Amino acid sequence: MLQANLARVRARIVEACLQCGRDPASVQLIAVSKTQDAAAVRSAHANGQRHFGENYLQEALQKQAALQDCEIEWHFIGPIQSNKTRDIAAQFDWVHSVDRAKVAERLQQQRPAGLPRLRVLLQVNLEAEPGKSGVAPAELEALAAVVEHCDRLELRGLMAIPAPTPDVARQRQCFRALAAAAARLRTAGHAGCLELSMGMSADMEAAIAEGATMVRIGTDIFGARVRPKS
Ligand SMILES: *Cc1c(COP(=O)(O)O)cnc(C)c1O
Repeated sequence: MLQANLARVRARIVEACLQCGRDPASVQLIAVSKTQDAAAVRSAHANGQRHFGENYLQEALQKQAALQDCEIEWHFIGPIQSNKTRDIAAQFDWVHSVDRAKVAERLQQQRPAGLPRLRVLLQVNLEAEPGKSGVAPAELEALAAVVEHCDRLELRGLMAIPAPTPDVARQRQCFRALAAAAARLRTAGHAGCLELSMGMSADMEAAIAEGATMVRIGTDIFGARVRPKS
C-alpha cells in the first residue's frame, strides 16, 4: 500500500507541475512520518524516498536512532519549544518552523561544529491568526535579518500552514501570499530565500501552482494517522 501511495503522490506532483508548466524536479516531496513507526519510514526509504518530516522531537529521535543505516535528510516541521533546540540543532538537516529570534539564536549556538550549516525556513502565520505558530508577516523581515546574522544557520525560505479550506481559490490565495513574502525578502537582500514549503495532502496541487518547492505529505503516503497527537 505504501508503495502504491508513494507512486500516486509522485504522479500527482508530476501532473500538477505539468498543469502549470513547471519542471517536476523543482518540487521536493517531503514524507511527513509523524506518528508512523521506523518500519514505515524504512519502507518508504526502500521505495526511494529520501526526505522525511517530523513534528515531535522525542518520537523523531527514536526513529533516527533506528534508521542510522538509511541515508535520509531529516526536516523538523513541528512547533519548537526553546528547551528542545539542542537536539533539533544536532539531529536535523532542515528546520521549517523557525518563528522567533530566540529559537534562531539557540539553534545557532547549538548547531554542532562538525556539521554543515542548518538550513532554515521561517514559518509565517499568514493571516496573523492569534495563538497559531509562525511569525506575523509584519515581523518577517526582522526575523530574516536575525537568521542571516547566524553563521551556523542558512536562511533558505519560508513555510506556512494555511487554515484548511476546500476552496481552491482561497488555498491559492494563501500560497500566493507566501510566495510574495519570499519574493519581497529576496528583493530586500535575502537572496537565498528560495524555498517555499507549502502544500499538504489536501492542498498540494494549489501549492504547486503557486510555486511550492517542497510539499509536506503525510496522510496520502502513510494513510490516516492512528495515534492522535498534539
Ligand atoms: C502533519 C503535517 C503535514 C502533513 O499533513 P497531511 O495532511 O497528513 O499530508 C504537513 N506539514 C505539517 C507541518 C504537519 O504537521
